[in-house]
Parts: sequence; structure tokens; C-alpha cells
Amino acid sequence: MTERPVYSIIAPIYNEEGNIDALFERLSAVMEQIGEPWELIAVNDGSRDRSLELLRALHQRDPRVRVISFSRNFGHQIAVTAGLDYAAGQAVILIDADLQDPPEIIPQMIEKWKQGYDVVYAVREKREGESWFKVQTAKVFYRLVYRIAEIDIPLDTGDFRLMDRRVVVALRNMREHNPYIRGMTSWVGFRQSGVSYVREERHWGETKYPLGKMFRLALDAITGFSYFPLQVAMHASLALAVIAVLAIPVVALLRLATGQLIFEGQATTLIALLLLSSFQLFFFFIMGQYIARIYDEVRGRPLYVVSDVYGFEQRVEEDAQRVPAKGVVGTRALPDVDSNDAVADEHGGST
Ligand code: UDP
Ligand code: MG
Repeated sequence: MTERPVYSIIAPIYNEEGNIDALFERLSAVMEQIGEPWELIAVNDGSRDRSLELLRALHQRDPRVRVISFSRNFGHQIAVTAGLDYAAGQAVILIDADLQDPPEIIPQMIEKWKQGYDVVYAVREKREGESWFKVQTAKVFYRLVYRIAEIDIPLDTGDFRLMDRRVVVALRNMREHNPYIRGMTSWVGFRQSGVSYVREERHWGETKYPLGKMFRLALDAITGFSYFPLQVAMHASLALAVIAVLAIPVVALLRLATGQLIFEGQATTLIALLLLSSFQLFFFFIMGQYIARIYDEVRGRPLYVVSDVYGFEQRVEEDAQRVPAKGVVGTRALPDVDSNDAVADEHGGST
């Protein structure tokens, strides 16, 4: 008897046992005020705590809570991707499970959506309760990506955003193995707008983004949306060539005029050599980053492996193809049921 939701709210969950109930409470308080049908799609990204148990209990209490559970941890961006694959709403809202993104902002997003915007992203005016290091690295990161990316990705926006169904369908057709959802929602275009908010402190627990994961996300963002790092090698090579060409006559003239050598000794040579090798190795690293991502795409592995789903039975009846049952793999976008969603899925991974 559950109606088709107007809003699908997607929350990726990785060891968030202390946040799940609070998240649902605050979300449902907000969504009750809106008064239109909604669902919460929780994507359990291989949690090792009681998250899945709590999500299942929530689903039993309230069938509007639907759960996709991965077979292991696949990462935040992939969890969001899975949520997008399963969402049925006319508008989809991405939100972190730790309540750093206050659900109370959602009505403002919905208002903008109703005014005709297709993407409404939330801009972090201020961040509270995060370490100086996190705030500063995030700031530098967003500005770096903004400078070098070929598309405009709004500054200081996370994944907290509302997207119209058309945007979701477009995203479903981008089966990237190292997705940067924020960039991808900018890439697809449509009418976009922002609302600002204060990023709150984590309700419970520690960040699930340690330095290593943050670094990887930054590399996904940069490699996904810019060739600039590859072009740096050319600029550096030109600069070194110019230095070399200028240095030859200078060194020769000085030697003839004063009889002096500018650079003496092996130490100078050694240091110069080490410096240049380090530059070269760094560019190997950069190329490697692009190559590894090409390799990920070429292998064409599924984006994720689902072990269980809860609450999608009715939708299975509605459209048998849409949500496969147990053992689902996310190789390709699930076909969309709406006839007016005209984006063709041309590059499904069937080999
Ligand atoms: N998350 C996830 N898989 C991961 C890491 C994080 O699903 O491997 C989820 C996490 O549960 C949270 C959201 O992604 O709902 C954002 O993570 P977190 O709050 O730790 O990141 P931060 O806000 O510190 O950048
Ligand atoms: Mg957080």
C-alpha cells in the first residue's frame, strides 16, 4: 500500500549505529511537514557495527525506510551511486547519515526545486566541530578543483543536494568506477542553484573519511574533471629547456671572462639530479593515476555487489526488471520505468 514516493532521500551508512535513529527522527519530522510521500534509502556500505540491524528494525517499523546492503565496504561515492540506482522519487536528496547536513534545510531545497531548479546543492557557509586540519584541507581542495576543473563545480559543496529525476537518470548512465558525484551533477548541466547552511558537528562517532580516503577522493575529483596535471609536465619540460638553453651561453661566457666555473663539485650535480628525478617520478605518479582509472573502467567490474535489499519488494512487482532481488550487482544502470525519462542507456556493460 505504500505510494510511489515524490522524494527519495539517500543516506550512505558506514558504521553509523549511533546516528541512524536520530537521522530518521529528524528527517521524518521535516518530511511530515512537507506532506508528500517520501522514502529513505539507506545504503549500508559494509558496516561492521549494528547499523544494518538498526536499519532493518527501522524498516520493519516504517516501510518507507528501504535498505540496500553491500557485501563489503565499497566507499561513500559508490554507496550514493547505488542509492541513485534504486531511487523512485521525482526528486532525490543526498544526505550524510551523521547529521552534519541538517535535514531542516530540505524544505528550502524543495522550494527551489518547485521553482524549477533541477539541482539544488547546499553550500557550507561554516563548518562546526571539525578539526582545523580538515577545514583547511577541504578549503584548499575545493579551491584547487575549482581552478583546474574544466567545469564549474560550486565551492564548498558536499554531496548534500536535491536532484530532479532527470538529473538522476543522467547520472545513472554515467557508470564511473571512481565517481565524484559533485562533479558529475555539475557536468550533466540543467538549471542549478544553491542554498547555504552551517555544517553542524557530527551527531555521533568519528569521521569515516580518514586522510587516505580524502586523498583518494581528491584524486578522483581532479583526474575525473581535469587534464591539467598531465599538461603540467609539458610546462615543466619547456621551463627546464629554457633554463638549459640560457644557461649554456651564460656558463660559457663566465668561464671565458673570469675563468670561473659557476657550479663546482659533484654535490651540486647530485642534488640537481635528485631534484629532476623526483620531478620525473612525480609525473609518473600522475600518469599512473590516470592509467589506473582507465584500467578500472576497462575491466568493467560491477560498481558494487549487493548482499541484501529490504523494502523494494513492491517495486519489484511494479517493474520486475528495476530492482533485481538478492545478489544484485551494479554493473549498469537499472532501466528506468518512467517513459518520459528519455535518456538512453547506450553503454551498458554487457560483454
Ligand atoms: N560513508 C560510507 N562509506 C565510507 C565512508 C563514509 O558510506 O566508506 C558515509 C558515512 O557513513 C557518512 C557519509 O558517507 O554518512 C560521509 O562520511 P563522513 O561523515 O565520515 O565524512 P566527513 O563528513 O567527515 O567528510
Ligand atoms: Mg560527516
